[in-house]
Amino acid sequence: MRSVDAGATPTDGRLWVFQALEWMTMVSTRPAVLIAGAGPTGLAAALLLARRGVSVRIIDTALQPSMYSKALAVNSRTLEVLQDTGVSDCIVAAGWAVQGASLHQHDRVVLQFDLPTTLGVRHAMTVLPQARTEAMLAEALQAQGVSVERGVTLKTLTQDDAQVTATLQHLDGREEQAQSALLFGADGAHSAVREALGLDFAGSNLAEPWSLWDLQLHTSLDPWRAHILFEPDGFVFVLRLQDDQWRVIGNGNDPLAALRRIGSLGVVSWQSQFHIGHRVAAQAGVGRVALGGDAAHIHSPLGARGMNLGIEDAYVYADCAADALAGDPARLHDYAVLRHQVHKAVVRRIGAITQLVHGRPPWLRWMRDEVVPLAGHLAFARQLMLRTVGGLDHPLKTRP
Ligand SMILES: Cc1cc2nc3c(=O)[nH]c(=O)nc-3n(C[C@H](O)[C@H](O)[C@H](O)COP(=O)(O)OP(=O)(O)OC[C@H]3O[C@@H](n4cnc5c(N)ncnc54)[C@H](O)[C@@H]3O)c2cc1C
Repeated sequence: MRSVDAGATPTDGRLWVFQALEWMTMVSTRPAVLIAGAGPTGLAAALLLARRGVSVRIIDTALQPSMYSKALAVNSRTLEVLQDTGVSDCIVAAGWAVQGASLHQHDRVVLQFDLPTTLGVRHAMTVLPQARTEAMLAEALQAQGVSVERGVTLKTLTQDDAQVTATLQHLDGREEQAQSALLFGADGAHSAVREALGLDFAGSNLAEPWSLWDLQLHTSLDPWRAHILFEPDGFVFVLRLQDDQWRVIGNGNDPLAALRRIGSLGVVSWQSQFHIGHRVAAQAGVGRVALGGDAAHIHSPLGARGMNLGIEDAYVYADCAADALAGDPARLHDYAVLRHQVHKAVVRRIGAITQLVHGRPPWLRWMRDEVVPLAGHLAFARQLMLRTVGGLDHPLKTRP
């Protein structure tokens, strides 16, 4: 597309008309915000921006939404930030509220937390598979007149004082140079946006993979609570999905062995392994481009924070980006600063919890087995745990 110099005096009437038409087309098709990635972070950002009247375009490389659900728990903070969209009520109606968490050692409960009626939140943590949460966000977005463009991949981008230009690849191999005023990278842990910005994703990985099963389980475990079993060679996390379907995550040699002791296992509907990393992007934004969700931070699923923190990023981004588009560009800097601080703090905290539960090396195993059950009775430790799983361990700030 040729650029139009708004200050030029047209010497040829036809050229002027052509240029005016081209400019109008550019203005009408150029979205204010291009969002790369339609996972929970990108969908929430698109929805919250569209509700503020900002024109958005959202693309995703995948042809279909994923049918597998990594995240299961929607925390109180997420339900708070999505409340006005109507999506929270849908999540609460479709899911079930977690009553608490129980810690087991030697097949008996050594510590219990009850989730929270005391933290001033409207909704408790709610169990709903990620795929269903994403479908609800996509439906609410559709009601705003925005659909996800699938089979479109962001390859790279450049930016200048006026706009961002993203190179998009379509399924038929066609390349498009897409202009937008701003760009939000919600394209997951292997983010092309982060790479195009040249940002480090520093941190560490745990050596061994963790295993995951979604399976039928007949057990005496309380179905309304999450359970963590401390085992000699690791831990097992157990949470009911619905009916007799449960999610099991563990890091030992045979995490299911612990469950065979206390119940009987049935059909496995999904089995997977995943590697745990704790990483934060060097910045949450550069100029007109910002990062949110797994593109900006990854950590272990203990604490159930990844998707929830991404949706919180989306909420803060929508506020800052809408203000920036309305003439206050400094708000983009606010986003980058505010969120980078939160990302570092949350990843540090979840990393520490993960090290402890993981129980390696042996002195940490000793702390885990001997100290945690006792310390967990202390009021401040209980508050910290409740605030962490509720996503309430930092204030929700949209301004510095
Ligand atoms: C076992 C497990 C359990 C978990 N449990 C929880 C939990 O209970 N609660 C919780 O909050 N979190 C949990 N998480 C983490 C959570 O699943 C992730 O943090 C969440 O999916 C991140 O969302 P996102 O939108 O940022 O990224 P993603 O979900 O990764 O979405 C990124 C999207 O971008 C698209 N994409 C990628 N590259 C491009 C590109 N170049 N161009 C266009 N599109 C692109 C992808 O197709 C994808 O759709 C869990 C994770 C695991 C592994």
